[in-house]
Amino acid sequence: MSTLIKNVLVEGKKRNIYIEGNVIEEISGTKSSKAAEFVIEGKDKAAIPGLFNAHTHAGTTLLRGYADDMQLQEWLETKIWPVEAKMTEDDVYWGTKLACLEMIKSGTTFFNDMYWHWRGSARAIAESGIRAALSAVFIDNFDEGVANEQMKRNEALYEESKKQVERIIFTLGPHAIYTVSEESLCWVRDFADKHDLLVHIHLSEIKEEVEDCIKRYGLRPVEFLDSIDFLSPRTIACHCVHLSRKEMELLKKHDVKIVHNPTSNMKLSSGRMPYEELKRAGLHSNIALGTDGCASNNNLDMFEEMKIASLFQKAFSGDTTCLPANETFELATRNAAKMFRLNSGVIAEGKLADVVLLDLKKVELVPNHNLTSNIVYSANGSCVDTVICDGRILMEGRHVEGEDEIKDKAKEIAYELVR
Ligand SMILES: [Zn+2]
Repeated sequence: MSTLIKNVLVEGKKRNIYIEGNVIEEISGTKSSKAAEFVIEGKDKAAIPGLFNAHTHAGTTLLRGYADDMQLQEWLETKIWPVEAKMTEDDVYWGTKLACLEMIKSGTTFFNDMYWHWRGSARAIAESGIRAALSAVFIDNFDEGVANEQMKRNEALYEESKKQVERIIFTLGPHAIYTVSEESLCWVRDFADKHDLLVHIHLSEIKEEVEDCIKRYGLRPVEFLDSIDFLSPRTIACHCVHLSRKEMELLKKHDVKIVHNPTSNMKLSSGRMPYEELKRAGLHSNIALGTDGCASNNNLDMFEEMKIASLFQKAFSGDTTCLPANETFELATRNAAKMFRLNSGVIAEGKLADVVLLDLKKVELVPNHNLTSNIVYSANGSCVDTVICDGRILMEGRHVEGEDEIKDKAKEIAYELVR
């Protein structure tokens, strides 16, 4: 399969982009024109890399707007967990279909997920054409029997994942240090080492997590994970809000990857990830950006997340130069590609063909003094016109195959679940 995008802006210059299979084969002047199966007119459009949502729980789109503005523990115990307990594999399939649809419509071509019913999510991702790192939630609540079940389930899913489409990366998803026992965390460490897997975990999200960890283990969360040799360059630590200087040094020492989730942190009043301090510790290129789940965001629009990240950091550091537009854009593209070991995150020859075309006629993008500034501070998901992932056109002129059916079915399931 081949696609030619004609007369499109690439870093300020008019270019033709020729895609062969799932790779950007050639970026050339607009005169040279290779014959391709599909031709997209790129006039008044700009090509940017597909955005990366580095931490989410896609199935929770079904809970969008179901319960907000509550105390965290009450919110989880009386609203979120009871509904999640009722969810079937098919429910998660439709919830993830809805999430993939929303991500495609807002220019996201990759997401890093942790949710129940792995198979339901995998099926939705395979069909949608999007790329994802997919973990099952590993929670044992310090119960040995449950821990053994979880290990067996993950071993089975890992084997199963080898038969899945290549766009799906199997990862391990130990939920957090307060829901997973030390023994299980050590099992995760060994299994991940043996099979070279990424490990997706929530870390130091709220103050109570740090206090409980000190009570249980006599150490702060990052120190504890260091003490059991859990940390590695394959660790994807989400949130990282409450960190001591020593913990930042440990994260740097082990080359740990970090995901900032500003909207969720603000909505759940968790605190702020110390971006400038992590940058000073030499971790800037290790940080990516995520929306977290729809129950605590409440959407998956990475344009919105970029703006909020930048403003959040500025507001709380008192420094207007903190997290500027170009760095923010890197969190959602280049840094995340490195984190997930993907040859993408920029528009260049030889890279994976995960390409988004922005509609430069959208009022939010006029005038175009500086595209990166417009992307981070002014645009929103509706400025995306075309989305290509793995060389396949998933949206053109904002049309996505099967959109109405996905919305209708997800709505029906969501209402049924909360009835
Ligand atoms: Zn989360």
